[in-house]
Amino acid sequence: MEKIILTGDRPTGRLHVGHYVGSLKERVRLQNSGLYDKIFIMIADAQALTDNAEHPEKVRENILEVALDYLGCGIDPEKSTIFIQSMIPELTELTFYYMNLVTVSRVQRNPTVKSEIQMRNFEASIPVGFFCYPISQAADITAFQATDVPAGEDQMPMLEQCKEIVHKFNTVYGDTLTEPEIVLPDNSACLRLPGIDGKAKMSKSLGNCIYLSDEPDEIKRKIMSMFTDPNHLAVSDPGTVEGNPVFTYLDAFCRTEYFSGYLPEYHDLDELKDHYRRGGLGDVKIKKFLNNVIQSELAPIRERRRMWEKRIPEVCEILRHGSETAQMAAARTLHDVRAAMRINYFEDTSWVENHIRGAI
Ligand code: ATP
Ligand code: MG
Repeated sequence: MEKIILTGDRPTGRLHVGHYVGSLKERVRLQNSGLYDKIFIMIADAQALTDNAEHPEKVRENILEVALDYLGCGIDPEKSTIFIQSMIPELTELTFYYMNLVTVSRVQRNPTVKSEIQMRNFEASIPVGFFCYPISQAADITAFQATDVPAGEDQMPMLEQCKEIVHKFNTVYGDTLTEPEIVLPDNSACLRLPGIDGKAKMSKSLGNCIYLSDEPDEIKRKIMSMFTDPNHLAVSDPGTVEGNPVFTYLDAFCRTEYFSGYLPEYHDLDELKDHYRRGGLGDVKIKKFLNNVIQSELAPIRERRRMWEKRIPEVCEILRHGSETAQMAAARTLHDVRAAMRINYFEDTSWVENHIRGAI
């Protein structure tokens, strides 16, 4: 069986370091591993419209921003197909058929959808399209017969839903679709990176992000303003590491070699944590170290992004070409889906012939 990746992001803003550690870094690693036959990376504009219907310009403007973030991180258009979701009408048609295989109460149980509804204050007025986006996401994944989906932890319920749809479809209509597996980051700090405000998730919609394209002074300002342990008032106070976002970021980003360059009095992160727990280590010192770490990680991404910013027509061509390639792949799956459902009326005309025979 071919190994195929499908993954993507909503163009609701520029991408942030949560996307990077939760999914982008893993995508680049998998892309360069040579283990995959095909890699599809989707800019999910149709999904972004499900909660931004009145702001299509926001979605449109962010398509290039997301594409630039991809290229900046090292997504290579020679190895990965980057495409725009709404350019593939086959995805909408698949969604429409899959909707019949899912109950309303099943979608209502999805914990990610539940928390997103709350976050957007949608309670009494949920757009139907938003409510159904896990089904459309199942269409996105299965259209490419994806075997692997590198994503953050919040996507686990979507993958469960997708597997159920695949199982139901294959049971009712015969084996047609491939069951995908989520690929989560190994490092638990990367599963759901908190915001700089200490909220559970860094998210474009919450405005608590360090963006991959932020300038160095902006990154520094954000890091120095980060939440830490609220009970760590004096430097001498013992501090808490668990749930402290500054340490979660260090868990996510810090490599041991950074200590010799930026904080040589410690050997590794464990030593730094122990000192913080004991007391006698100030927040400012750790934040300065974290700033050096994140600056080192983001500088090459920002530089590569800048290089692509000067080549926008080429970026647009990458998206156009990628969308054409993706459309052909999705069309093949839709063809098989229609055949399995026996709604390929003019390709398999046995229904007409049977009718004629019956009539004679
Ligand atoms: P929005 O607020 O518009 O939903 P978002 O910041 O949640 O935006 P998405 O485009 O929904 O970003 O997510 C894209 C991918 O990035 C998904 O795989 C998701 O799991 C991952 N991701 C997003 N935020 C984080 C985070 N804070 N930590 C780890 N992974 C994340
Ligand atoms: Mg999201």
